[in-house]
Amino acid sequence: MDRELTLMVVHAHPDDECLSTGGILARYTEEGVRTVLVTCTNGEQGDGDGGVKPGEDGHDDAAVAARRLAELRESVAHLGVDHLELLGYRDSGMDGWAGNGHPDAFANVPVEEAAGRLAALIERYRPQVVVTYDETGGGGYGHPDHVQTHRITVAAVESTGIPDKFYYTAMPRSAMKQMFELMRDSGMDVGDFEVPDDFGTPDERVTTVVDVAPYTERKLKALRAHESQGENIFLLRMPEETQQRAFSHEAFERVLSKVRTPTHEEDLFTGLRH
Ligand SMILES: [Zn+2]
Repeated sequence: MDRELTLMVVHAHPDDECLSTGGILARYTEEGVRTVLVTCTNGEQGDGDGGVKPGEDGHDDAAVAARRLAELRESVAHLGVDHLELLGYRDSGMDGWAGNGHPDAFANVPVEEAAGRLAALIERYRPQVVVTYDETGGGGYGHPDHVQTHRITVAAVESTGIPDKFYYTAMPRSAMKQMFELMRDSGMDVGDFEVPDDFGTPDERVTTVVDVAPYTERKLKALRAHESQGENIFLLRMPEETQQRAFSHEAFERVLSKVRTPTHEEDLFTGLRH
């Protein structure tokens, strides 16, 4: 029996869903694919009201989490996502932050435990396609929660054996360089920053580029919903033309396919449609 086409995207924090996967979530939902977003942490280590950072006076973890989860619900509404699933783990903070040592921090949870909970969601929704970060947490990002998200998703995909195709989000190096040059050319103050050669995903790892140009406005609305973190979202401060360019395509690395598919695809569901 054919099962309903389903896409599951697994992210670490509220707001991560927008940039690398907002377009596919919006596009596939509109095409009638059932979409499921799993967010692993509550984002406690984000900015508080007035840009207060974790560890500073007045940073209230519970209030930050509540606000960010409300923003996540608004973002998901803009993208049209059918099901939002929260694993509810505690945000570990960026590498080197004091929050890394918290016993409940997501990065300190045994992989089998969190992977078991994700596996239960995969059993329930039976997605043909699952998307998460690569082993670096996404193009070399290295955030402990993103790396942990990668680990638990790999474990859950393997243990259930349910997904037919499995992808990592990708930020192609060549596109990163172009984007940066565009920012500089458009007069944005980038100082003497140069894009390091090892920044982003090596181009040869990219198998799949999805055109999401019609959804750039919805991606932008979703991103703006995460208002409390606005200071950290540099794309919101880019000139409009640069934003359009940055948002119009989403790239992925296919790491598993049980169906026949060409090396280079433009659709995550290639080989799965009848
Ligand atoms: Zn994140």
